[in-house]
Amino acid sequence: MGAAGSSLDSHFGAFPTVDLLPCRPEALLADTTVYLNFMKSHTCYDAIPISCKLVIFDTTLQVKKAFFALVANGLRAAPLWDSKLQRFVGMLTITDFINILHCYYKSPMVQMYGLESHKIETWRDVYLKSPTQFLISISPQASLFDAIYSLLRYKIHRLPVIDPESGNVLHILTHKRILKFLHIFVSQNLPKLAFLKRPVQELGIGTFRNIATVHQTSSLYEALSIFVERRVSALPVVDGQIVALYSRFDVINLAAQKTYNNLDMTMEEAIRGRTCCVEGVMKCYPDESLETVIDRIVKAEVHRLVLVDRLDVVKGIISLSDLLQALVLTPAGIDALQP
Ligand code: ADP
Ligand code: ADP
Ligand code: AMP
Repeated sequence: MGAAGSSLDSHFGAFPTVDLLPCRPEALLADTTVYLNFMKSHTCYDAIPISCKLVIFDTTLQVKKAFFALVANGLRAAPLWDSKLQRFVGMLTITDFINILHCYYKSPMVQMYGLESHKIETWRDVYLKSPTQFLISISPQASLFDAIYSLLRYKIHRLPVIDPESGNVLHILTHKRILKFLHIFVSQNLPKLAFLKRPVQELGIGTFRNIATVHQTSSLYEALSIFVERRVSALPVVDGQIVALYSRFDVINLAAQKTYNNLDMTMEEAIRGRTCCVEGVMKCYPDESLETVIDRIVKAEVHRLVLVDRLDVVKGIISLSDLLQALVLTPAGIDALQP
């Protein structure tokens, strides 16, 4: 059985043609290994788009220029090329921008010397204390199961797919892309697992304790400190109830609008100043089924839903990492999200 790539178009670009597993889509299965087997039997190549934009930075580029280049190209991350070593040595992501701002910011009156003058390689020397830091990548022929394992085990959100023969980066895989790939096949062809019908909280999928949040009157610098210390990918912004969601991605607005010199602004101001963001907060409730949660998160194209009670008080986070862990790694007996 085959599916044409064109029928599987998404905003990321079309999925190439792949073979589908024979199955009865209407069946509800108790066997929890179906998605695990699907991921093991498809390669990273199957999930990469037919064409996409990719930007690579030489490590001698200035960090500030690199972040402006990400903004100008509408990208979230870029592989780093070391021309002396003639190999890729890492990634530059928005988390790195956050780390730089957090490290050098003093006040709106003091220019951040490190941001203004450092090259990427200088920053990496300062920041990466361990010389064993290396690029985590994957071959196009590796399975999607291996890709999920690497993303979750190393707690990263960008996994470059590198052709071992040419050494070229073909694509940067993300949780979003992989879950979307699975979702398309589940809705078109794969059988549904019985546990998809059960409430998310009963299944224990997500984080329900010690949720990192930020108050709307806190400063943006405080939010960046939480990103750095807790290493979470987003913060529910609260005032008793949830009022907004501020993700690491949103910090790139500071580069786009050149407002990174004032991190004393409140979260309320930071949220108001955001351009291109999702309207409202994408949430879910403890009694909603896993299937509903997956459908909502895929449709909204966000990395997580905030679990709230009926009074809109934050009770948890269900991120794509939690979903991929539950659907694919837990059935394999692997817990990659353990600290
Ligand atoms: P973001 O969520 O902001 O895109 P990540 O969680 O992917 O960022 O990155 C966290 C840290 O890990 C950053 O310092 C980034 O440079 C680094 N990193 C991300 N992807 C990789 C990778 N594939 N190999 C090595 N380091 C990576
Ligand atoms: P990435 O695509 O890099 O993983 P995110 O999904 O974290 O980025 O964020 C992309 C945009 O979607 C950001 O503007 C962020 O604030 C918004 N966003 C992410 N999750 C939610 C959510 N649950 N509710 C509302 N907006 C969200
Ligand atoms: P992520 O980095 O979003 O892919 O998620 C990695 C793990 O961190 C998942 O188990 C999430 O549930 C958890 N997580 C994400 N955001 C938060 C947060 N704000 N507070 C606590 N845990 C979180």
